[in-house]
Amino acid sequence: MTPMLRKIVFSVAGLLLLIVSGMSFYESRNLKEPVVVSDGVTKVVRLSTYFSPLQGTANDCNIYILEGKEPGATLCILGGTHPEEPAGRLATWLFAENAVMSKGRLIVVLSANRSGSTVTRVGGAYPPDFTIPTSWGGQTFRLGDRWSNPLDQWPDPEVYIHYPSFQELAYVDIRNLNRCWPGRPNGTLTEKTTYAFMEMIRKEKVDIVIDLHEAELQYPVISTIVAHEKGQELAVIASMMLTDMEGFKMGMEFSPKNLHGLSHREIGDHSDAISLLFEAPEPFLDATRGRTTREQLLTGQDDFVVKAGKHGLLFEKIDEKGWPIDVRVGRHTSAVLQVMSSWTEAYPDKPLVCDNVPRYAEVIARGTGAFLRAPAEARQDRLFHE
Ligand SMILES: [Zn+2]
Repeated sequence: MTPMLRKIVFSVAGLLLLIVSGMSFYESRNLKEPVVVSDGVTKVVRLSTYFSPLQGTANDCNIYILEGKEPGATLCILGGTHPEEPAGRLATWLFAENAVMSKGRLIVVLSANRSGSTVTRVGGAYPPDFTIPTSWGGQTFRLGDRWSNPLDQWPDPEVYIHYPSFQELAYVDIRNLNRCWPGRPNGTLTEKTTYAFMEMIRKEKVDIVIDLHEAELQYPVISTIVAHEKGQELAVIASMMLTDMEGFKMGMEFSPKNLHGLSHREIGDHSDAISLLFEAPEPFLDATRGRTTREQLLTGQDDFVVKAGKHGLLFEKIDEKGWPIDVRVGRHTSAVLQVMSSWTEAYPDKPLVCDNVPRYAEVIARGTGAFLRAPAEARQDRLFHE
């Protein structure tokens, strides 16, 4: 082969690779995720309603508001702070598509860092999406990443100085929604996003904010509620009730006072709301996992992570049954519902009563997909996209 021919062959191969991967990136960034809202959803607004500079950005997400038939407290659930932790997002889907509040108000966010849901881990060989099976054929979701998409916020600084604590954090965490609370109006896209949520929390007089996450088994903060000191009692009671009544272990720990940028710390410090964060186990995130596949994401089964457990390297149990997605989603729905009932017992004059959302045992028995509604059968005014 002449040098010229070789150059042409390599150029064409490179161009083909560019086109094929470019199409895949474009598709995953623009994949529309349907939400067929429950009859309990009384209003859908955009995050920019509370802070207009977000308008037209990737992070101007939908806010689903469920006004109860009777008044009470206001609870906000944040899904998709870290989109690559899908049980958190899926749990918010189950609330948006099924919940009916008989007392109090619920605000549901499915894509707290929408930008982060439009990209996957660079160099991580992540699948671009995953599908939850349903009786009507399945619903596909963007997998997403832990950080905002560099296409929306770039470049990263050498050092990230958190505002307003001036604590020095890892540079990449300037795109991590859960290191950018409480945000600032003239900051980066991620800081503007948390600032907009703070405005929403203050204007809507939110009493409790719950941020839904998943964690690798090699991380000590797992299967737990992390609570701001204002939510200490509520978290203790909820974790006891869940462990006693529903048979899954749920711990409780305090939000460290000197660790800044996290929702469980800053929302509680900068608003009247109690802030809580829930963690469920996700073997997909473990560094010692085997192949990073859609199947592994959903079954939570991984021989390598099991092996790490045999060497005492994990903070949560795992066996060959793994941590299936339905178990993780069910932990989240039950934990949110339990916080509502524990709160209502403590403050009967400001109740939170939510009907029609499946708890842990029911999600496992019937599968997450049983509670997703078919967009093809939805009335147009009840169909939204994330
Ligand atoms: Zn997380």
